[in-house]
Amino acid sequence: MKIAFIGLGNMGGGMAANLVKAGHEVNAFDLSEEALEAAKHNGCATFTDAAEAVQGVEGVVTMLPNGAIVKSVYEGSVIGKAPAGAVLLDCSTIDVATAKDVIATAEAAGYDMVDAPVSGGIAAANGGTLTFMVGGTEKAFGRAEDVLQAMGKAVIHAGDAGAGQTAKICNNMLLAISMIGTAEAMKMAEKLGLDPQKFYEISSQSSGYCWSLNAYTPLPGVGVESPADNDYKGGFATALMLKDLRLAMDAAQDVDATTVLGAKAAEIYEKLAEEHGALDFSSVIKTL
Ligand code: NAD
Repeated sequence: MKIAFIGLGNMGGGMAANLVKAGHEVNAFDLSEEALEAAKHNGCATFTDAAEAVQGVEGVVTMLPNGAIVKSVYEGSVIGKAPAGAVLLDCSTIDVATAKDVIATAEAAGYDMVDAPVSGGIAAANGGTLTFMVGGTEKAFGRAEDVLQAMGKAVIHAGDAGAGQTAKICNNMLLAISMIGTAEAMKMAEKLGLDPQKFYEISSQSSGYCWSLNAYTPLPGVGVESPADNDYKGGFATALMLKDLRLAMDAAQDVDATTVLGAKAAEIYEKLAEEHGALDFSSVIKTL
């Protein structure tokens, strides 16, 4: 299939390369020359204009920083420029309202479109092992599925337009809360004189069991190997967790959802990001 890929940064670069590996023909566009150079190296055809990159394609994939950029790229360079009948896939993490809005505009112009944000970081993007949570009609999902399979290990239809973004921000709000809870419990156990490794052994097999403790233990040398063992480098950056928490708080406000712990987590990550935005989000334990 001929696909235009817009936004070849940390995530999009590897995703576009995996589409090429799966046999797709990829037209690449990014504002960064460096990103385009890397895409060329990975077998993509490169373009200096998005509207040109989408000429004659059957699908368009975007992996962009935020909702405002996604909206301007689709409204300015994709909708009405890509052939009628092309399937559109936005894999960026953006606010639910903009995702629904852009999909409605695309549908009104006759396109099938999904929001398909990902779980998994740069390593998963490069390795083709992302999880996609997808919002859109059955028909749009059916058309997008094969393209997403080439970049991931799991593709899940979450529901209607915007459901992918909803799943993503609710999951990451839960993750932030559980990481802070895990960190508080581990530090408190330590202060009370309990060996943190013993706490891990007990709690990871008790009702404290959770992904943050069992699969991503935030203390160095305790539990499983994680970014904590690498000075909190790599992993999921605090700044990206903060971005997702802000999206979650905006969405909560829109629908009047009660998110007492989500709001507290956003406040804690806001503070952490001021000093250590690039460190893994489990570094929150260092503030306790
Ligand atoms: P990035 O900043 O590395 O890449 C974004 C790319 O978009 C850049 O290359 C930039 O030049 C390009 N771009 C910006 N405006 C553009 C425009 N108008 N037209 C064309 N290209 C444009 O960001 P990233 O880490 O690759 O993240 C991309 C998306 O994936 C974000 O929405 C992010 O929240 C989400 N995400 C990231 C991770 C991660 O670990 N990095 C994990 C999950 C989801």
